[in-house]
Amino acid sequence: MSVRESDEYTTRIVPMNYGFVIDNRKCIGCHACTVACKSEHDVALGVNRTSVKYIEHGVFPDSVREFFIQRCNHCEAAPCVEICPTSALYTRADGIVDFDNRRCIGCKSCMQACPYDALYIDPVTNTSAKCNYCAHRVDRGREPACVVICPVEAIISGDLDDPDSTIATIVARESVVVRKPEKDTYPNLFYVKNDSSLLSSSASPRRKDYLWSEQATGVGHYAKYAAELPAVDERDLLVRPALESDAGDGTALNPGAIDKVVRENEENRTSRRVYDIPSKGILWGWEVPAYIWTKAIATGTFLVFYLWQMLTGETNPALELKALIATLIFLGLTGGLLVADLNRPDRFLYVLLRPQWSSWLVRGAYLIAGFGFVATLLLLNNLMGWPLQWLAVPGIILSVLGAAYTAFLFAQARGRDLWQSPLSSLHMVVHSLIAGATTIMILNGGSSAFEVGILRYGLFTNVILITLEVMVPHATTDAHKAVKLMTRGYYSGIFYAGMVVGNLVPLVMISLVEGDHYRIMAGVFALLGIFLTEFVRVRVPQLIPLS
Ligand code: SF4
Repeated sequence: MSVRESDEYTTRIVPMNYGFVIDNRKCIGCHACTVACKSEHDVALGVNRTSVKYIEHGVFPDSVREFFIQRCNHCEAAPCVEICPTSALYTRADGIVDFDNRRCIGCKSCMQACPYDALYIDPVTNTSAKCNYCAHRVDRGREPACVVICPVEAIISGDLDDPDSTIATIVARESVVVRKPEKDTYPNLFYVKNDSSLLSSSASPRRKDYLWSEQATGVGHYAKYAAELPAVDERDLLVRPALESDAGDGTALNPGAIDKVVRENEENRTSRRVYDIPSKGILWGWEVPAYIWTKAIATGTFLVFYLWQMLTGETNPALELKALIATLIFLGLTGGLLVADLNRPDRFLYVLLRPQWSSWLVRGAYLIAGFGFVATLLLLNNLMGWPLQWLAVPGIILSVLGAAYTAFLFAQARGRDLWQSPLSSLHMVVHSLIAGATTIMILNGGSSAFEVGILRYGLFTNVILITLEVMVPHATTDAHKAVKLMTRGYYSGIFYAGMVVGNLVPLVMISLVEGDHYRIMAGVFALLGIFLTEFVRVRVPQLIPLS
């Protein structure tokens, strides 16, 4: 019997709105909730639907240990539901945010969108999972397993909209808080207010040596990479504490002294994370900046060629043929990289066949598919003389949308503050124009004033946009930290290489040096710069811990 069919549900006047209240002051850190949840849902080794973080304050003997129970917040405006391309995550009528792993494609968008680090990739099914409020138990009139087992009643469940319920009474009478209210997710998990350092991920930095921290080298999301990961994850674990220390005491980072920073971390902090679940590491790897790069080439090549044709009134069927073939090849690579990044690549067609239309992953997939269709028809027009030249106009519109949509997808990833920049869509269109002008020059074996102009002004705009992103004060601490890590942290070398080799050098080359070869070389440097700066922009925000 579903919750909708139960007597209690049908006799109620208002719909239910299930939530949790957690009183961390009562928690004794016994992990009974974690174990009961694992048992109830047969959760795999190394991953958790709920967990208890230990934080210590002060120096012995004046020290104290506190516990923080963390899990899905069953948000009313759940960003994981909004971004999920296949409705694998959905909100039930009773307020529970549930999931159906049979629909999940393993794109990890939900993990980027959730500001609370509540989701994980199940290493057995390779699909996303999280606390689902024990929906199967609730449907039978029972409470979630963690609530039943907690020996001190630190976890209270119930209907927040029922004024007579225990949970609603606590929320009304106690001073309660939610995590990250600035994210506008309206969590239905309320914490009875106590030490604010428990709620903040940055108040107690992740270290490389807290209890079970070594799990991050080969369990959970990373289980299949266990053999190759120690070196990579060790580096990431070291970057995080270095970043946290920098944010804490304001000193500049020296990547060569990261170990020293870790030690300083331990000495200077009054709040220490001494037990936690492993970090989930980098969720979107090199495939995502590579996909942004190939997409910029595909959309840009089309865009620059047809803009040239429309604005100059000239035609060049041989160059058009090469441009369309290049567009379709790089579009194919773009699709291949997207599929390669999925944890369930066998289900990639679900994005098109089971679309959830508020997700920019779905909108983008359809934009790209439409753009590819138009480019294919124009190729046939070129080869067979079909009367389809008018398709260049919708093709131009689709190429601009195809270039820009990833910025909207990144904006839906609300867990990553740096990706919320309103300039991102313009940035991606500029990348597309730079990449397109370069590709057309390569295909043509020479350059025209049109391509050189696009390259020059594109690079100039690109430098301004990156400078704005770095220099303008950021609205949140996490965005500020991400910029610091980009410009002074472990990846700053790649970032500055992208800025200098990929922007300033080509800008000087096309401004001061004559000759097609130098212009093409400048374009190739610019292409390299796009990849390097996007690599850092995609990777660095993922190093900021969400919990
Ligand atoms: Fe749960 Fe995170 Fe989704 Fe909110 S955004 S409902 S906390 S998984």
